[in-house]
Amino acid sequence: MVPREVESFREYVRSVAESIRPHAMTVDKEDRFARESVEKVFEAGLGGVIIPREYGGLGLSTLHYVVFIEELTKACPSTAVTFAVTSGLVANFLINFASEGLKKEYLPKLSTGENIGAFGLTEPCCGSDAGALRTRAEEVEGGFRITGQKQFITNASVADFVIVMAKTDPERGKKGITAFLVPTGSEGFHILKDEDKLGWRGSVTSAISLDGVFVPYERVIGKRGEGFKYALASLDAGRIGIAAMGVGTIARAFELARDYVLKKGLEKDQRYSFRVADLLSMLEVAREYTYRAAKVKDSGVRYTRYAAVAKLVSSEFAMKSVNILLDIMGPDGVVWGEAERLWRDTKILEIGEGTSEIQRLVIAREVL
Ligand SMILES: Cc1cc2nc3c(=O)[nH]c(=O)nc-3n(C[C@H](O)[C@H](O)[C@H](O)COP(=O)(O)OP(=O)(O)OC[C@H]3O[C@@H](n4cnc5c(N)ncnc54)[C@H](O)[C@@H]3O)c2cc1C
Repeated sequence: MVPREVESFREYVRSVAESIRPHAMTVDKEDRFARESVEKVFEAGLGGVIIPREYGGLGLSTLHYVVFIEELTKACPSTAVTFAVTSGLVANFLINFASEGLKKEYLPKLSTGENIGAFGLTEPCCGSDAGALRTRAEEVEGGFRITGQKQFITNASVADFVIVMAKTDPERGKKGITAFLVPTGSEGFHILKDEDKLGWRGSVTSAISLDGVFVPYERVIGKRGEGFKYALASLDAGRIGIAAMGVGTIARAFELARDYVLKKGLEKDQRYSFRVADLLSMLEVAREYTYRAAKVKDSGVRYTRYAAVAKLVSSEFAMKSVNILLDIMGPDGVVWGEAERLWRDTKILEIGEGTSEIQRLVIAREVL
């Protein structure tokens, strides 16, 4: 059960999401950042759902945040992932690990949309095995110089800063990785390209080159050598966001399938009605479990396993749900339109913030 005030919050988010729905197909077609949709969400005061009030946010729970991402996804997955990164992954990273100075400088800007953030862990060499990353941060007078490349970084080419994980002490392996807040305007910071993707075409995903970028000590996040630990902890939180995107996807697949079956008068035919029943069942399970993971996180106990199960189940159910949607719609589902776009937007849920295999690895490690 969801508290009444979370449901009222959902109603508000839904009204904002409805205003961005019309842009979702346009940005997909034009393969460009959903800027006007992102701006509308910020204008509606929803940039800082989980950011504490003292830093200009709404100071709401993870459950509110899940509902926020779920409703945005139903309207526009590209907009939803933009916020899942800047208002989820990145905000969580700063809230939990940054100095008071960095929090005061950046969290209010993330809340209003004055800044958009990105998270830079993956490299051409390493994604699943991110601890093997090769980007180096060499200590120099006053700070560090970072050199290396990052790949598949959501928001990077529209962001004001990227949280970059780099090796300060390579001989210490994963314990030699440190996190840095790198403004994208820094000398030596280059966007190499924006990817031309299957889905989330209204969200930018970029390759970055860091060519001796100077980062002063004040922009080191937390302690030297703890960056990988922070990244994994932030990915736990991020995975709840991706699970929420899965829930929104299944909810939308269910709505589209139900409307199609009713419109075509197929509701008495079990070949169709049973599949709609499957969609609702997957929605209920994914939603309940994702909300549970959010509540466990907010209770303050270790929630790694819950986040990984939520992400695994929700993203795999989401992929099944869009397959069912297209099965129901047949040719009507494969011509360019919302069902077809939703199908393309969904595969990435099984890849980003750790593939399904990596979720299984995390879950197995937690219990074996
Ligand atoms: C659209 C998009 C947005 C992204 N945004 C970001 C972002 O903002 N920031 C960021 O840092 N990264 C981001 N990523 C990167 C993403 O997290 C990685 O692509 C993902 O973790 C997989 O890593 P990889 O690409 O190196 O694939 P690989 O690790 O090479 O994986 C390839 C395949 O091998 C499997 N595999 C790998 N290791 C194992 C294992 N030990 N056991 C079993 N199977 C295994 C994987 O499951 C996968 O099927 C994004 C990716 C995409 C596609």
